[in-house]
Amino acid sequence: KNHIDHATVEKVQAAIKAGDIHAHVPDYETFETYRSRGGYEALERLRREGNWEQVQETLLEAGLRGLGGAGFPSGRKWGFVRAEPGPRYVAVNGDEGEPGTIKDRYYLEREPHYFLEGALIASWAMEAETCFIYMRDEYPAVIQLLEVEIRKLEEAGIVEPGYIDLRRGAGAYICGEESAMIESIEGKRGYPRNRPPYVAQVGIFGRPTLAHNVETLHWVTRICREGPEILNSIEKNGRKGLRSFSVSGRVKNPGVHVLPAGSTMHDIIEAAGGMLDGHEFKAFQPGGPSAGLLPASLGDVPMDFDVLQEYGTFIGSAAIVVLSDKDSVRDAALNMLRFFEDESCGQCTPCRVGCEKSVKLMKADKWDRDLLDDLGKVMIDASICGLGQAAPNPIKLVMKYFPDEV
Ligand code: SF4
Repeated sequence: KNHIDHATVEKVQAAIKAGDIHAHVPDYETFETYRSRGGYEALERLRREGNWEQVQETLLEAGLRGLGGAGFPSGRKWGFVRAEPGPRYVAVNGDEGEPGTIKDRYYLEREPHYFLEGALIASWAMEAETCFIYMRDEYPAVIQLLEVEIRKLEEAGIVEPGYIDLRRGAGAYICGEESAMIESIEGKRGYPRNRPPYVAQVGIFGRPTLAHNVETLHWVTRICREGPEILNSIEKNGRKGLRSFSVSGRVKNPGVHVLPAGSTMHDIIEAAGGMLDGHEFKAFQPGGPSAGLLPASLGDVPMDFDVLQEYGTFIGSAAIVVLSDKDSVRDAALNMLRFFEDESCGQCTPCRVGCEKSVKLMKADKWDRDLLDDLGKVMIDASICGLGQAAPNPIKLVMKYFPDEV
């Protein structure tokens, strides 16, 4: 709340509205080019003669999992939504708000039609009434190019006008949480819902809804076009598939690096050009602030779903931030909690008050470990959604792996 310069934000928003500032739309693969390379043929073939259960089987065979952070097997999710009576909806989550995560933007600004075709394949499979795309407003160039490209799809007769309903987010981190996103699509304040019922059963306007992340749909198309081998033939350290790591921090070549899912932090740093000169690898954020911080001594652990559980965290959206000996993990953790304090929707007390209280406690010269532990337990047990449940992770992990610093 205190870190946002509202006057500047309002000035910029007014300038965008007045047309004085234009989003810089990068060079991307247009509909015409994508189509000339066989784009939308997979969708057309499926619409003509496809069987959704066969596609579901192929996704399961490929090992595709939700790439927004939760990692739930995509094919199984399809089964849950289809098991419910229609009308059904599809909701694409493009609200990439986890700090450090840039992979959806990477695909959207380069090859947006892979994800659009994937969204239409999923909509076909679900027999969905409407396909909603919830796009982060901080990506104005992406919204602009999607408006143009969706119109082209309508003009080419690939989709009925209005079938794809592009919605703009409004800057709230919490609206990337799928049930809050659904509330927002419905036109309400983005408050996460209690679950069960899950959105697969009770989603948009109370109807069964398939919610998928942008990158997940990118891979749905690739799997339909190139077969499940595109993912399941790649193996490293006993893990199968590919992962789009968003890498930032003290590395020479930050950005999105697509690597085998079993890659370790040492592999990821090497792919990112190595550590910056004069910096020694000390710690890393494995999957956004929700996943906290781990020490460099875990640099040989495969950075895949499930594996990091053993170390008290998870890979999430694979947003890797590399810290060096020049960084303070204590300051990094405090920064993360300040972020959660700002972004808590305030609906439930353990998260609303817990984040604020954590920030206060973390400012002390010496952390009160017992109190922070106790507070963290309450937040994990009693918060409604993942924000409050994961917010204590940076504290827990810093106390566990870097006790001398706190
Ligand atoms: Fe809102 Fe936090 Fe409660 Fe989630 S845990 S519903 S973000 S107050």
